[in-house]
Amino acid sequence: MITENVKELLSELPQGVELVGAAKTRTPDEIREAVEAGIKIIGENYVQEAEAAFNLIGNKVRWHFIGHLQKNKVTKAVKIFDMIETVDSLKIAQEINKRCTQENKVMGVLIEINSGTEEQKFGIFPDKAEDLVKQLAGLKNIKVMGLMTMAPYFENSEKCRPYFKKTREIFKQIKAANIENIEMKYLSMGMTDSYKVAISEGANMVRIGTRIFGQREYKK
Ligand SMILES: *Cc1c(COP(=O)(O)O)cnc(C)c1O
Repeated sequence: MITENVKELLSELPQGVELVGAAKTRTPDEIREAVEAGIKIIGENYVQEAEAAFNLIGNKVRWHFIGHLQKNKVTKAVKIFDMIETVDSLKIAQEINKRCTQENKVMGVLIEINSGTEEQKFGIFPDKAEDLVKQLAGLKNIKVMGLMTMAPYFENSEKCRPYFKKTREIFKQIKAANIENIEMKYLSMGMTDSYKVAISEGANMVRIGTRIFGQREYKK
């Protein structure tokens, strides 16, 4: 099923929209199947899970970190990942920068926007995003390449639209500010239930798990 799902999804996505296969809870073998079917980017929420899959699959695919990154996991994360989509503070960015300096690597990062301004969620509030980007512009071993958001959850994905719209506005605003060393290229928004709405609001990167791998079963 994974192979068919990937092929169908890839044929359906508009030109210029990149697919990130969101792989949390999936086995390295399931992830490998998705890669063989044509997925170019795998998204992982947990460093430890990513390590197991990375050991099997390696650099045949690009690895994006899409979970909440803890400071004590950064050293490992910078060895595996090609992009970290969830930077939301100067502190975590400085840690990534420090570890990447040691690895002699420049990490592409996206700024995670808490577009619903939900207190319990990660991500920076919309009105603080541009200032954060300006602060990160001086870090030599990271490169800001765009924004990511997880809209609030709604049964009806159409209700996500204002949050995607808001994130796109911030994207355009930061792009227009022409900050040195910043390349506003990727707008990562939309999951299985909401990717169509997200694309219609300008997403050029979608993170999709369930539609590829089936329903997730969490271990008890
Ligand atoms: C799990 C996850 C996804 C994919 O969710 P699905 O509904 O399974 O497509 C996308 N983005 C993030 C950050 C996730 O944690």
